[in-house]
Amino acid sequence: MIALDRLYSLGAGTPSRSQPTLFTGDHRAAVGECVEKTVANMLAHAVDYEHWIIAYSGGKDSSCAVTLIVTLIQCGAIPAPKTLTVMYADTRMELPPLQAAARVMMDRLRAMGITVMEVVAPMDDRFYVYMFGRGVPPPSNTFRWCTPQIKVEPMTVAIAETVGRLEGKCLTITGVRRGESDARDARISLSCTRNGAECGQGWLQTDLPGTLTDTFAPIDHWTLCNVWDWLSVFAPWEEFGAWPTRMIAEGYGGVEDMRTGCTGCNLIATDGALGAVLKQPDWDHLSPLLGLKRLYLELKKPKWRKRQPGFQYRKDGTLQSNQQRMGPLTFEARVMGLDTVLGIQDAVNSAAERLGRPGMVLIDAEEEARIRELIAAKTWPNGWSGEEPNADVWLDTVNNDGSVQPILFRELVGQ
Ligand code: SF4
Repeated sequence: MIALDRLYSLGAGTPSRSQPTLFTGDHRAAVGECVEKTVANMLAHAVDYEHWIIAYSGGKDSSCAVTLIVTLIQCGAIPAPKTLTVMYADTRMELPPLQAAARVMMDRLRAMGITVMEVVAPMDDRFYVYMFGRGVPPPSNTFRWCTPQIKVEPMTVAIAETVGRLEGKCLTITGVRRGESDARDARISLSCTRNGAECGQGWLQTDLPGTLTDTFAPIDHWTLCNVWDWLSVFAPWEEFGAWPTRMIAEGYGGVEDMRTGCTGCNLIATDGALGAVLKQPDWDHLSPLLGLKRLYLELKKPKWRKRQPGFQYRKDGTLQSNQQRMGPLTFEARVMGLDTVLGIQDAVNSAAERLGRPGMVLIDAEEEARIRELIAAKTWPNGWSGEEPNADVWLDTVNNDGSVQPILFRELVGQ
């Protein structure tokens, strides 16, 4: 049995990173104080619910939440709910070291008798199937289709199904933290665009339908230092459960305040997490993954896209505000993209085999077959027929105010 007073004294009187220093000039709670507050919060808010669902991404914050809650149940600090389900949002796009750490964690939880569900988007909604099969261009800051599609919606459906099966009140527990500062709160909401947060972390706070379950964030008050102290120092101790949490640091490439999300995410200028991981000696075989970002950049170019010609109207008859917008990927683009991603996957796996390291899957055989099937069926996103001109074809310019600027030197472009 884990001694509760040991948990509450964690970090106190030791040179943990949570301790105030001459330079911080402020009081920062040690891990033990944070644990105590989490216990108080759980007792005040969570124990009224018969069923708990912990939303787990494999990142540092949700790993902290899941290991802490299970540890607290084991040591009797909080009563066990009637059911405890850990739901892992498997986007298939996370950095391989984080995926590996999540797999080890889930094996461990299952071995303890805890229900672990792996939630994956339906086939046609998965990242590469949607992009290369349906032809939707890579996500961007102005067209961020990915977070809802590969994270929010699958998790929402899985929670709804679970809630429908269970009798009694359900609570969704998240690893969202808002403890450090208002600035950090803002970063959480903008989780895909700033360092320090995990993509999708914010959605649980803001986007999960409130009608489904109540949502509770028991490590809300923990700082980044507290989280890393727990994961890398205390959770691995035998007396607190010997959690395999040190592996998670590898997924962050040893950079603790690193943003994590999909490998090669197109919404950030530089994939710092991948860069940091590649500096780790055991993961440098992942370097072909750097090609993903280059591919997404290439696929944004007009030569790989379709464009809406002529005037586009809203239902009320007024002109749309984005005339001649670029749209889906051409079939050539999709085949090129698919070949490129499969080539990157092969390169990583060949190196992994040569070096005796774990391989990875970006697109599995079933997904590849579905992508080719959708291309063969000439599938286009809603609102597009494929008859539209390619985006690099010269057209008369149609302006949002309804005016038209004819092509100058039409004869030079052969029209
Ligand atoms: S990390 Fe990037 S690609 Fe992945 S869901 Fe978030 S915004 Fe989309």
